[in-house]
Amino acid sequence: MALELAFHGPPRPRQRAFRVLAGTVAAIAAVIFGGWIGYTVSAHQGRQTLRGESDHRLDLFAAAIESRVRRLEHVPATVQFSSEVLALLRQPDDPRRAATAGASLARLNAHLGSLAIFVLDERGTVLASSQRPARNGAPLLRDDSTPGQELAYRPYFLDALAGRVGRHFALGADGGEPGYFVSHPIRDGARVVGVAAIKISLAPVDDVWEMLGTPALLVDANQVVILSSQPDWRYTTLADLPLEQRVDLRINRMYGDVQLRRFPLPVDYSVDEESQAIEGELDLQPTLPTRGGSGMLVLGRALDGMDWRVLMFADLRPVRAQALRASLMSAVAVAFVELLALYLAQRRRLVRQRLEAQQLLQRANAELEHKVARRTRALTETNARLRREVAERQQAEQTLRAAQNELVHAGKMAVLGQLATGITHELTQPLGAIRTLSGNASEFLRRGDLQAVGGNLGIIARLADQMGGIIHPLKSFGRKSLPQPVATDVAQALANALFLYDQRIRRMGVRLDNRCAAAAAGLPRVWCDPNRLEQVLINLVGNALDAMQTTAEDARRLVLDAQLVHDLGEAEPRLLLSVSDSGPGFDEATRAHLFEPFYTTKPAGAGLGLGLAISRDIVREFGGEITAVVAEGGGARFELRLPLAPEGAALAAPALPPALSPAAGLIGGGGLIGAGPPVPAALQSHHEP
Ligand code: ADP
Repeated sequence: MALELAFHGPPRPRQRAFRVLAGTVAAIAAVIFGGWIGYTVSAHQGRQTLRGESDHRLDLFAAAIESRVRRLEHVPATVQFSSEVLALLRQPDDPRRAATAGASLARLNAHLGSLAIFVLDERGTVLASSQRPARNGAPLLRDDSTPGQELAYRPYFLDALAGRVGRHFALGADGGEPGYFVSHPIRDGARVVGVAAIKISLAPVDDVWEMLGTPALLVDANQVVILSSQPDWRYTTLADLPLEQRVDLRINRMYGDVQLRRFPLPVDYSVDEESQAIEGELDLQPTLPTRGGSGMLVLGRALDGMDWRVLMFADLRPVRAQALRASLMSAVAVAFVELLALYLAQRRRLVRQRLEAQQLLQRANAELEHKVARRTRALTETNARLRREVAERQQAEQTLRAAQNELVHAGKMAVLGQLATGITHELTQPLGAIRTLSGNASEFLRRGDLQAVGGNLGIIARLADQMGGIIHPLKSFGRKSLPQPVATDVAQALANALFLYDQRIRRMGVRLDNRCAAAAAGLPRVWCDPNRLEQVLINLVGNALDAMQTTAEDARRLVLDAQLVHDLGEAEPRLLLSVSDSGPGFDEATRAHLFEPFYTTKPAGAGLGLGLAISRDIVREFGGEITAVVAEGGGARFELRLPLAPEGAALAAPALPPALSPAAGLIGGGGLIGAGPPVPAALQSHHEP
């Protein structure tokens, strides 16, 4: 997995740096390559253009040479038809004939504008010439055309003597003017008897250099530069001449006494329109660069029918400058394209990243939605289950509550059963009194003592009320009821509970210390159902009496107390109601199980072990709590902590009529049960013994 991450994860910084470096190098290489391509293509095109232009100029130049130099080439061929010349050649020693022929040639020469026209005999001696001997005896211009000149060494003479047309450049003999010599054999019948020659001036050529616009030169078959726009180049050789050729040139004196130098540039003699590029440093004329060397394009052209070639030197500088510009532009274009590509790639990457992020988000969203849906489903199911459970619990609670109510009722009935005997006894005495009083009343009626009758009837009525008062609470006690919290007077509830045990307390000789009765006026109301509270108290007092069965009679003590407490951790103060006895109490192990249902130490049939469990539930139901502790002196002490009734809550209707309330001294204090009926004084006074 780690390996896979290493391969597929994002590139590490070093890898990334390497990629960036490689990319940069490639980009620079591409820019350089682009520049090179631009340079090469532009230079090639520039050369082609230059070549084309130069070619055209060369054509014009060749045409100019043709018209200015070669137009007179055919003249020597016509000389043989001159009768004067033929006559002279037949009688060469006749001076008159020589003069006649010379005059004829001079006329022709003057007419054509050539430098000279002359005739040689077969030994190479000039017999007649357009050059006329000076009449005033001035020395003749020493040249080829000078009559009497021996020219057997001249190639044009030798060619013509051999029957061919001779033509070549040469300096004039004895240092004369350079010119273009053309010769033709003169035949007398089939035999060559002499040679006719013409010397054509090359001066017009100097006028046509400008036509080329660049340095140029004319080179003859000996590779010697005979004419050039650059005076320095004249009489230089394009190649090193072999020795025999040098010797030949010395003999035929084509270049007179001129010392032939080597041409300063390595130029190929046979160069043609295909051109030759050469590098060189020249300081020939202002048009050519001298700084940093200059490239030149050399183009050559052979002149038709001649052994001459014209070479021109085109400046490559503009071409190179143009090529450099093109190269720069290409490089810039490539760089621009690269930047554009980089920008597009970057943009594409951004778009891709954005798309990926979007997809990721969508996926996360979908996943989240899926999870939420799953969770919602689970929650809905849990909710439904909880609802079911709540319903089941509510059902169970209802069942439990019903069972509890039944149990409470059963407990009440059990208490009532226990009390039945006592109540019967309680009612027997007033009944007996009523019987006696009614008997007395009828006697008083018979005697006509109506006042006494009225008094007895009044007592009977009060006794009937008292009996109703005894029965009434039992009725309400035995009634089934549902818990309903109201503001409850604790002292009243306690008095009701004690009322039920009053007879038993007396029988057992228990000393009752009910501190609540004394403090009743100052005690705050608690918030609970008075019937249920009575039930709890009945249970606690009953248990206390049960526990004290084994205690010595004089040590039986039941203390009931109530006080306001503010327990730690509780926001509101509560009423602490305690029931303490002087029974055997319980050990710690028993205490731990006291409130468990069906926990009892009582013999079978005497207890179910539900009393305390139900009591705790009842107390909790009203937000209170019940605890068991060991009382001072070793007995048991049960403590009830009950919430106070909210202020202004109506007081619950008292369960016992006021006449029977403990405050009236009929219960507990006065001792109604077991102590005999409190016979009113009136009754006693009217009682028949
Ligand atoms: P029951 O009275 O039917 O046994 P209770 O739940 O009222 O059921 O009481 C459970 C047990 O708690 C009793 O069996 C008894 O052992 C113990 N007990 C209750 N009150 C006292 C007390 N005042 N002194 C000693 N033990 C007590």
